[in-house]
Amino acid sequence: MTRPLLTSALAGMGTTIFAEMSALAVETGAVNLGQGFPDTDGPIEIAQAAADAVLSGRGNQYPPGPGIPELRSAISGHQKRFYGLDVDPETEVLVTAGATEAIAAALLALLEPGDEVIALEPYYDSYAACIAMAGATRVPVTLRAPAFRPDLDALRDAITGRTRLILLNTPHNPTGMVATREELAAIAELAIKHDLLVITDEVYEHLVFDGEHIPIATLPGMRERTVTISSAGKTFSFTGWKIGWVTGTPELVKAVRTAKQFLTYVSGGPFQYAIAAGLALPDAFYADLAAGLHRKRDVLAAGLRAAGFEVFLPQGTYFITTDIAPLGESDGLAFCRRLPYRCGVVAVPNAVFYDHPQAGRTQVRFAFCKRDEVLADAAARLAGLTVTPPGPPAEAG
Ligand code: PMP
Ligand code: GLN
Repeated sequence: MTRPLLTSALAGMGTTIFAEMSALAVETGAVNLGQGFPDTDGPIEIAQAAADAVLSGRGNQYPPGPGIPELRSAISGHQKRFYGLDVDPETEVLVTAGATEAIAAALLALLEPGDEVIALEPYYDSYAACIAMAGATRVPVTLRAPAFRPDLDALRDAITGRTRLILLNTPHNPTGMVATREELAAIAELAIKHDLLVITDEVYEHLVFDGEHIPIATLPGMRERTVTISSAGKTFSFTGWKIGWVTGTPELVKAVRTAKQFLTYVSGGPFQYAIAAGLALPDAFYADLAAGLHRKRDVLAAGLRAAGFEVFLPQGTYFITTDIAPLGESDGLAFCRRLPYRCGVVAVPNAVFYDHPQAGRTQVRFAFCKRDEVLADAAARLAGLTVTPPGPPAEAG
């Protein structure tokens, strides 16, 4: 066979780093602070609602294409309760198979081959793959340590006649940066001036410790040009359910739905009922979620500092980005591949999320959405890093 099996859009994408590192954790029995998923499930009443839906036969057959009305209403109510946004559940909400499908469908719907997409690097790995599958070109604007603030001059300079949209992510994975109102206003001004669309990935909207999450769709002139994406995975700690959603104007949502219906058509029927119930939880649930993670952030940050890492304290998400240079290390990917053998912990190298890997070469990300005893165990293991002689099998490096 002369022709490669993988389409050129996907060439070089390989296995996701999350899959690689989780497999390594299983293989070595290491504490997995790599792939971001909580080690405890979300509220029992939400799990019960899913079980009830299955057993009572709600959602076991194809749900409606845009999502069940109960969930669309709950998403609309959420946007109103937290952000004062009026979203019509009939025409301005689309339920998707996680935020991942929402991102894919939005990019496939809104991009033509040759279009340029400006995105903040390091980026969540599906962005690069989906932009490539849409035949478009990504134009990175680099977030730099230690603060990882968006460089507004670089963003302005990145805009060309081919730019179609800006792909935002706040709170930002992996850096934990939360965009400020001033930064979002500057981005909005550019989008309006150059008539660009904005896709904003806000899956960590409720995981904010410093500052405040502001949806760019709430800024003047932005509602009509913004596709807002979120998901139940992070907020309710059920990452395996894959219930996500898109909100935006009827035209934008219709465009995204057109692509989405040929990706999965529909998904997660019973889980849609459960997440509708989850979104109705009182404000205290959301406040407790953030407070609990805030504490865990500080516990892991202290452990990482004690172990010799430079810590870039995140304002949001459940990830801490560190620098391994103080440990005498210069290559995050090699470091992460050896770490489970050296001290029994798995982390993720940020370099794989950059188009300019040099910018993140010594950065390594740790997830702190774990039980307190797991974080304490991980910190104790990492503390051994400087005293334990490196001893990975040769082929693991
Ligand atoms: N966007 C970002 C920034 C993420 O970190 C994740 C995490 N999985 C996703 C999207 C995907 O969310 P989901 O699991 O709902 O598909
Ligand atoms: N969002 C998760 C993370 O960043 C991973 C999701 C995935 O494995 N695709 O760790």
